Amino acid sequence: MNILTMMWKNLWGGSRTTLFPARPKVSEHYRGLVRFDPALCSGCAICKMRCTARAIEFKGGKGEFTWSYDPGQCTFCGRCVEGCKEHALSQDSECPPIYLTIGELKKSYTLKRKPPVKPAVAAAPPVAVPAVEPVPGGTQ
Ligand code: SF4
Ligand code: SF4
Repeated sequence: MNILTMMWKNLWGGSRTTLFPARPKVSEHYRGLVRFDPALCSGCAICKMRCTARAIEFKGGKGEFTWSYDPGQCTFCGRCVEGCKEHALSQDSECPPIYLTIGELKKSYTLKRKPPVKPAVAAAPPVAVPAVEPVPGGTQ
């Protein structure tokens, strides 16, 4: 592309930016705000350990725990979502909302710990009892 074509495109190609409050379109695999489903969370704290941006806080208490997420600290890397074996985390596929105050979007959940699931005890297989054959000449 020569310089004149480039200048022509820049002059007449229209705006490349979006005026506030409109949000730009994002691709299908865009990684946005982290969503948390408290019903699925087991309180393992793996997400907190994977979050190097410290956007996730986890405080364990007796019989309960508190999980918090601050989008203002989040880099939207997706490591927490990848590491959650319970599928309690997901990411929006749209631009995060605009906020004006630090911590405005932070959310906290205090949840009761779920009782451990005991593995089902398998029923013992039936023991085969050998048939007793009468002994010849013996008493019955
Ligand atoms: S969101 Fe997932 S990784 Fe984080 S504490 Fe809950 S179950 Fe564990
Ligand atoms: S997406 Fe990345 S930065 Fe954001 S909470 Fe998850 S691990 Fe932390």
